[in-house]
Amino acid sequence: MPELPEVEHVVRALRRVVVGRTVIASEVRLPKLITPLSVASFNRRIKNSTISGVSRRGKFILIELVRNVTPRRSAGILPAKRAQRAQAFFVLAVHLRMTGKFVLLNTDDELHKHAHAIFYLDHDQRLVFRDQRQFGVMKLIESSHLSQTKGIRELAPEPFGEEFTLEYLRSLLKRSHRSLKTLLLDQTKVLGLGNIYAAEALFRAKINPFKPADELASRRVPQLYEAVREVLQFAVDHIRGSIGMEEGFSYGAAFESFWQVYEREGEPCVKCGTKIRRATHGGRSTYWCPKCQRR
Ligand SMILES: [Zn+2]
Repeated sequence: MPELPEVEHVVRALRRVVVGRTVIASEVRLPKLITPLSVASFNRRIKNSTISGVSRRGKFILIELVRNVTPRRSAGILPAKRAQRAQAFFVLAVHLRMTGKFVLLNTDDELHKHAHAIFYLDHDQRLVFRDQRQFGVMKLIESSHLSQTKGIRELAPEPFGEEFTLEYLRSLLKRSHRSLKTLLLDQTKVLGLGNIYAAEALFRAKINPFKPADELASRRVPQLYEAVREVLQFAVDHIRGSIGMEEGFSYGAAFESFWQVYEREGEPCVKCGTKIRRATHGGRSTYWCPKCQRR
């Protein structure tokens, strides 16, 4: 499952290839992907829109669309109101979940299996959403409603945004008795850490993953804060992937040595040589060094 850095990578790759392009038409082959909208209604709203930007909120990819709307010929609409109605702003919010992928195809490229949504762009290119496991989500939302949309409104501040401050983290930890690992994974509290990056951040901060959040000494919070930002930033900087996004992700040589505890059970700790341990609860594994992360 892609974590936040991988999604950020997709956002940047998409931005390079689709911003400014026109979506001439769309085709949805898996109606459940776009519920609650009907396929007809979805296609009608997308038709002849321009992609004005690509951004991200949590693990949602936000494809911003602008469409010229022909003013209604109703006699009741005043000229000023007509002008306001001239453009409609939508966001196509896409969650990749397990296996969702975007692929950019040229005229001669063959359409693969599991192509659930196809966006016909200008210059005879197609932006295709593929999803083998079919857990992906696509919501077409009016831009003004985005922040109130379920799944987005609950999200914690962005880890690189201004709202995610040291004070924010400090007061959050003070108010929770859950384990630090569990709290860090809760996307409504701290955004962007999945299982890999939570383990790595706690290792870098030398903090025991099972420690209750409110028992972490205040003076140790800055180490955790820095570690959270550091692991996410490092990942964003080192992910490689093709523009077509067909090949998935790779991390380059520098990244191989970056995971210091994740999936390293039984290997010696890079700092002290003690064997890395693993514990499983709720279907998730926690990796830690029993010596470096004693407390
Ligand atoms: Zn160690």
